[in-house]
This record gives sequence, C-alpha cells and structure tokens, in this order.
Amino acid sequence: MTGYEELRLRHVRDAMAAAGELIGQLDWPAAQLAAHRGAGLRRLVQTAQTASPWHRKRLEHVDLDSLDEATLAALPTMTKDDLMANFDEIITDDRLRLDVVEDHLKRLTDDAYLFGRYHAGASSGSTGRRGVFVYDWDGWTTAYLGVVRQLLRELAAWPKAAHPPLVATVASGTATHIFYSATQTFSTPRLATRPFAVTQPVAEIVAGLGDCQPDLLFGYTSALHALSREARAGRLRIAPRLVIATSEPLLPEIRAELEQAWDVPVLNYYACSEAGAVAISCHRGSDGLHLADDLLIVEPVTSRDEPVPPGGRADKIYLTNLFNHTLPLIRYEITDEVTLLDGPCRCGSGHRLIADPQGRLDDTFDYGQIAVHPHVFRSPLSRHRSIIEYQIRQTARGATITVVCDGPADLPALEAELAAGLTGIGVPSPQVSVTPAASIERHATGKLRRFVPLADAGQAYHR
Ligand SMILES: [Zn+2]
Repeated sequence: MTGYEELRLRHVRDAMAAAGELIGQLDWPAAQLAAHRGAGLRRLVQTAQTASPWHRKRLEHVDLDSLDEATLAALPTMTKDDLMANFDEIITDDRLRLDVVEDHLKRLTDDAYLFGRYHAGASSGSTGRRGVFVYDWDGWTTAYLGVVRQLLRELAAWPKAAHPPLVATVASGTATHIFYSATQTFSTPRLATRPFAVTQPVAEIVAGLGDCQPDLLFGYTSALHALSREARAGRLRIAPRLVIATSEPLLPEIRAELEQAWDVPVLNYYACSEAGAVAISCHRGSDGLHLADDLLIVEPVTSRDEPVPPGGRADKIYLTNLFNHTLPLIRYEITDEVTLLDGPCRCGSGHRLIADPQGRLDDTFDYGQIAVHPHVFRSPLSRHRSIIEYQIRQTARGATITVVCDGPADLPALEAELAAGLTGIGVPSPQVSVTPAASIERHATGKLRRFVPLADAGQAYHR
C-alpha cells in the first residue's frame, strides 16, 4: 500500500495544479458563476440519483434537464440528523460505512488517508450534534483551496521577502478536525504553517508566537480575542500583516479589538466541516464576505423555510456542496444566521456578499486567572462516537456535563480525559462529571446552548 507521504506529495502536486483555476474563479462574473452552479447541481444530483440509495428514493422524480437554482427549492432538505441516521445509504462508496469511518477516526492521531484516497473528519457544529464527513481526493483538494485561494492570491502580490510567509494557526489540534488535517495534507515550504492548539495554555501560545513571529495569524475567533488582550497588555509582541478569524462568529466588538491590537486588516472566514470555506472577507471593497459562489449553493431561509431576500437576516441556510460527490449534501440545513447583502461588491467581484454571520460564541470558562477555551471540552467530546449531543455547565472547580448517547460510551474515561485537559491548562484538581440523558432541552430557535458559564447557571435556555 502506498505510504502517507507519497500520497500526500501527490495530493500537494494536484492542489498546485488546480490552484490557478480556483483562484481564477474568484474573478468570474455573476452570470458565469450561476451557469457553473446550475451545471454543478445537475452533476451532483445525477450522482446522488445513481450512487446514493437514500438520495435516489427522495430524488428519483427530479428531471435533470429542468433542474437549476430556480427549481432547487422543490427538492427535499436534509439535516445533520438525517445524515448521521442514513450515512451508509447516503455515501456513494459502499466501503465507507459509518462504522468503518468511525473506526478510522478513532485511531486518528495525525492526518491520514482512508482507502488511500479519502479524508474523514468529525464536528460538533453550531447545534452541538456530532457529524461525520468524508471527502474524496478532489473534494479534499477543493475544500482546502477554497479556504486558502484568496490568501494565495494575496501573498503572490506581496513584495518578495527573505523567507516565505509564515502562517501561525491557533485552532483545533486534533486530527479529526478537517482544517487541522487539511493543513497537514497540503503543507509545503511555500506556505509554512506553525500550528498551535487552542487547548494549550495561553502563555505557551504567546511564547511560541513571539518566537516564530508569524506574517499571518489565523485562528478561532475566541482564541484570537484572548491573544489580542495579551498583545494589548504587552505580553504578546508580534506584527502580523493579516489576521484571519474563523469558525466562530466575529462579533463587531471582537473585530474592533483585533483591529486595535494589531492595526491590520481582520478577515473573517466563515467555514464549516461540511464544505470548507462558505464565505471569506473581501477587505477590498466592503466589510462583507464573498460567498464561494462557484463551489456551493447557499439558500438563506426563515425557520419556516421561506426564502429570505437580500438585506434580511435568515434563521438558517440550506447548503448544497457541489464539489464533494462522495457525500452528497443537497439542501443541507445549517442553523447559522446569515444576511445576504444587496447588490454587487464594490471590488467588482461577481460573488455575492453576506454580512459577518452572527450568532453566539461558545463561552470561554474562567477559573480564576485561567481561561479555558471551549475546545478543551469540545475536542474530547467529539472523539466519542456515541455522544451525539451535549451541554456543559461550568462549576467552581470543573464542569457537569449532560450527554445524549446513541450507544455505549465510556463516560468514566471521558471524565478522566476532560479532567486531564483542564489540569494540563492549569486548573487545579478539576472535578468533571458526565451524566447521560435522553435529551437536552433546547431554546425555541432549536439551538442548544452548549456552554453555560458559572455566572449564567440557571439561564441555560435563554439567549
Ligand atoms: Zn469584494
């Protein structure tokens, strides 16, 4: 069997060959993008009809010749629950049964290929329910390039420096997270990356960033927020030329603090495990984010499925991923509040604009002087396959966690793992209890408040 490094280098070559085309698509006019989406949609639905038994049942009546974005709304929608309950019937390669993918994820310590061509990842997402995703060879390339293509174009315009630009990332440090593993797959000296895990103590990240002096700082919004305070306090001395926030809502007050801390443009990358980059800050013509209008179809809708016109804030979106045929996601529900902006961007791009997606950040828990990033909890929880939902309430010395399981789970082991994570970050003698429950009460919007800090105990369902 071909070794990891050999496969990886082939993948890097393929990505370099594909980059020019994907960067070029950033400049396509709106009409060309729309035509490209229509053709992509017909190809995707055709694959789903022929190779996905679950989709075939739902889509067999769809006439491909008349299918386009205008008629897309007649197709049924799907949720993460649908995906997880019908995974084996949705996936278009029979070998990729959910138990096989889960076994692969369980053993994952670093980026790895499955069957020599696939990549898998797990996420809890904004609703707190666990999801599993598989990308094929080209899908993985496109997901990665979708995230970095604008950056590659930006970097090409920078004056030649003595060394290639260094990107520091402060994000998930676990191989089941698609951004972390894609960064490993496609790592090259031309775009060197120095990864930090948000689960590391802040002082350690501050020291590491000071040592490596990154040209770009890329990270979870809440982690960058914590670092901006370190910068203002004089403990973190770096001079990045760009700061990129991702994975969590970039609230206006946080954006302002990041801008003040480093006095450079702050870009927002709205991304998800299901599709990579959904939208990326323009920073040339407006404060908005350009949708990946060549790779995805994004439909903003109300909670009652009515389309939301530009200017209105949608309760959720339906996302159709046009580039990953292995796991067809067609009108897949993502409960993020997205506002489509009216009119083209002043930069001249044909890609539509959205405002910074709003929502609620998972809370950072403060134990005295020690700030614990939500990922310290999220990461171990997402590795336990039978835990499909959870809520974490901070206590004075740790947390009480309610979990919904769909199978046996080693909860004492999970408790020990979470306590070890807290100890590692400096919380003294942490106490963590994990209790199973049949369900967790949700807010009226359907969203679950996953993190309840000590100060808000008793307010779990009010947002
Ligand atoms: Zn623009």
